[in-house]
Amino acid sequence: MSDKPITPLMPVYPRCDVRPVRGEGCYLIGERGERYLDFASGIAVNALGHGHPVLVKAIAEQAATLMHVSNLYGSPQGEAYAQRLVDATFADTVFFTNSGAEAVECAIKTARRYHYANGNPERGTLITFNNAFHGRTLGTISATNQPKMRDGFEPLLPGFRYAPFNDLDAALSQVDLNTAGFLLEPVQGEGGLLPATPEFLKGLRAFADKHGLLLVLDEVQSGFARTGKMYAYEHYGITPDIMATAKGIGGGFPMGACLATAEAAKGMVFGTHGSTYGGNPLAMAVGSAVLDVVQGEGFLDHVNAMGDRIRASLEQLIPNHDELFDSVRGLGLMIGLRLKVEPRDFVAHLRDNHGLLTVSGGDNIVRILPPLVVEESHIAEFIEKLSAGAASYKLPVPA
Ligand SMILES: *Cc1c(COP(=O)(O)O)cnc(C)c1O
Repeated sequence: MSDKPITPLMPVYPRCDVRPVRGEGCYLIGERGERYLDFASGIAVNALGHGHPVLVKAIAEQAATLMHVSNLYGSPQGEAYAQRLVDATFADTVFFTNSGAEAVECAIKTARRYHYANGNPERGTLITFNNAFHGRTLGTISATNQPKMRDGFEPLLPGFRYAPFNDLDAALSQVDLNTAGFLLEPVQGEGGLLPATPEFLKGLRAFADKHGLLLVLDEVQSGFARTGKMYAYEHYGITPDIMATAKGIGGGFPMGACLATAEAAKGMVFGTHGSTYGGNPLAMAVGSAVLDVVQGEGFLDHVNAMGDRIRASLEQLIPNHDELFDSVRGLGLMIGLRLKVEPRDFVAHLRDNHGLLTVSGGDNIVRILPPLVVEESHIAEFIEKLSAGAASYKLPVPA
């Protein structure tokens, strides 16, 4: 044992006693062989569950063929996969990244550069929203006003203003001559599984159109079929100008992308942006494999059917535990169970005593994010474990 006052793993995570060493579909297996039903999916990442044969095969084959080359060279793999994302979305062009935060960084740069290219370099400020989560880089923590992410990291990046989520008037009242546009999650994830209201998102879109501003969506968590559509914006009948995507896109392989229309990306010319690893052949093979599955016949219908099933079961369960459970919200398989108490202790109880993995979020939300390939039998097991967990849970005594 080391006598250093710090662990080799920088201790920024309060890691729990779940120590997974293997995954099988919707289950994680720990060091001592114990099994967990994984309704967290690495926080909405393992869209195809663990060890999906299509993904495993794609990685093995591409790793043996060509893993990485510089972005200085032509990329047949990147061109083909970017074309598929363009065909599947609002976008005309794609920049590949290795993570969600990098995708948001690229989105912020693209938005600023658009106004610069238009001769309005002063339009550099994005309006973002309370309880937003956009990642942990300096740029993306500057894009939220949550103190738990910002404290002690000042000076942060200028060029962000904050408004309450789902309050159109408040957002528009922040607009001035320096505004570049709006940056938001169409369904807030970490902040508490909160979907934008149609009036809010459509209102931002209409205002942006009228005033030459950009609508930038962070679909890092809500994207890639998680909400039952390829992207959550489709639920609203609008399209963004720029969008960040990651998490589910690689099914567990670290990758992300910034998508944009031709107009919005007009400032992103040679030399303005780059990434050593972004879009390497291995990532492109992974992305194509995940997309093959997600675009397979009936996949989105399955996500919606399983989401409806979970929500209906939760609605039924709530009255049996109404001292603990408040309500259900969300879209597709991005589901929030709102508690009447702070959720972290209950999430730990489900994990430690009932072998069920979920994730806590803001606003007393337990995030329920199963792999998108979840089956009815897993849902039955989930409801059983949740119900048993609620029955055995001792509500904290109010102070
Ligand atoms: C997870 C997340 C990010 C950050 O993604 P990383 O891959 O951790 O950098 C950004 N935005 C949203 C909405 C997220 O859920």
